[in-house]
Amino acid sequence: MIKSNEIPIKHAQSIKGDIATTKIGKFNFYIWDYTGVEHFSFIWEEFIKESDAVLLITDSTKENIEKSKFFLEIIRSEAPIANVAVIANKQDLIQAMNAKEIEKILGFKTYSIVAVDPINRIKIIQIIAELLNISSGVSQQIRTMEERDNLRNYLEQLIEDNDFQLANTVIDRIIDLCVELGDDALSNDFKELGIKLDHILDEKINDIGQLIPEGLTETEPAEGQATSVKARLLETLVTNYMKSIESVIEVTICDRDGFTIMSQSKKKIARDDVLGAMATVIDDYIDRMKNEFDAEGNFFNITMISDKKIAYCSMGPNSILTSIAELSASDVELRIFSEHVASKVELILEGNENVDVEIPLVITTMSKSKGGELPTGKFSTKIIMTGNYQVGKTSLVSRFVRNLFQESYQSTIGVDLSEKVVELSDDTKIKFIIWDIGGQITQIAPYRKRFYEGANSAFIVLDRTRPGTLKSVEIWYNDISKYVNEDINIIIVGNKTDLTDEIKVSEEDIRSLAEKFGFHYILTSAKTGENVNDAFLYIAYKFLESISS
Ligand code: GDP
Ligand code: MG
Repeated sequence: MIKSNEIPIKHAQSIKGDIATTKIGKFNFYIWDYTGVEHFSFIWEEFIKESDAVLLITDSTKENIEKSKFFLEIIRSEAPIANVAVIANKQDLIQAMNAKEIEKILGFKTYSIVAVDPINRIKIIQIIAELLNISSGVSQQIRTMEERDNLRNYLEQLIEDNDFQLANTVIDRIIDLCVELGDDALSNDFKELGIKLDHILDEKINDIGQLIPEGLTETEPAEGQATSVKARLLETLVTNYMKSIESVIEVTICDRDGFTIMSQSKKKIARDDVLGAMATVIDDYIDRMKNEFDAEGNFFNITMISDKKIAYCSMGPNSILTSIAELSASDVELRIFSEHVASKVELILEGNENVDVEIPLVITTMSKSKGGELPTGKFSTKIIMTGNYQVGKTSLVSRFVRNLFQESYQSTIGVDLSEKVVELSDDTKIKFIIWDIGGQITQIAPYRKRFYEGANSAFIVLDRTRPGTLKSVEIWYNDISKYVNEDINIIIVGNKTDLTDEIKVSEEDIRSLAEKFGFHYILTSAKTGENVNDAFLYIAYKFLESISS
């Protein structure tokens, strides 16, 4: 509410940390907001330590208030001189205890509030002001803040309407207001946005001569043509797959009812034995899938029939990929290739015509990792997301963790922590703890060290439509090297690959840069999801390789 963002209605699955900067009265604030999820409890002491003021938020239920006493203990030991107040939130719910009762139980001044009601924004700022004894002079600041927030909404509207000229004027005013409020981070964000809009305006003017007159726009391809594009893409994809692993001898793509979409085989196999058995097994799987998984459920399994391995994989609602391989194929490589190819099949069947059907080098590399043997156990790895502003760091994380993509840009403030557990096999689980930092990394200098500390792996993300972001890869690499001395696994990620018409950074450009540093690279789209899983999996395999060597 302090940042005046919309209140999330659904509780986000990820584990979030956030630092908001704001100014009230004469003071600049860093407001740290961290998760209450228990296995992140290692953060709490550090988090509360030496705070000047602590606001404890409760949902006003009896159970939650009892649990909150735990925090009061930490506050007593880590921040004994802090001013403490309690917020009794969700006062609109029937079971809510009132502020007076809560105050009696916890022993600190308690304010009641309904956080979903935006009107309370001013109230919460006043609570903070009161907590810090700085109420005089606050009201002017609040008015400035309100003006800024209204303009931010207006700006969004203007950008949506493509009115960049007016948007630029509004940005200038927002920057002034941010400066007045002492919010440098946000003012810099808006400066960058202004520069971006300037570019768009320049390009628009240059393009005017080439605009296609109305009525002459390209016609939609006919149904028949569309399917042949699909067929051609699937064909090439499967050919490339079979070329990449010697031991795979037959590949079939069928829909989720078991009807074959296409099939390729390298050599005649003992059809009667294998295919007959295979048909039975696949029918069985389809039944199981229908019963046990929803339409979206992903699936991977390997069975052995006579002297062949059969891998079944589904990465979406449209298809099942079946691969028949010699026993020399490792389960690991079958899984890595199957998941990669099955994801591509889904993209193609959804009508995506720009799917890259070449098998990326990282796929081959990770499938050969440790000769296909995985260390067994549960592992955990810290990944940091680096790269310039707006390259898609947050989008990649959200695609990987929640399979979501958001078109509208929300700059990350502070740090987002997300985690996801992936089962690489029955005996190998890996937990990804992903640190995604906002654009103002240079401004919160003390935070920087913490961000880099202990990282096992790093993404350096670039936006393929902005050549400057490729140049910055070296800067990020140097920054990482400064803070992390051990062997950190790095992958260069060329994102926004879906924007085919706007791409200015070619695969070749990225490859030669990656080679210069000795890293691998991958081309992704957080929007379509292309290769996003593979980027994270690559990092996982690299990590497992490094700890078990
Ligand atoms: P960050 O600043 O690096 O965290 O960038 P974000 O993830 O917030 O993304 C910046 C903007 O680019 C947002 O508007 C996203 O919707 C958009 N974006 C991110 N990834 C892609 C992508 O792969 N394709 C396209 N077309 N847009 C993307
Ligand atoms: Mg971000």
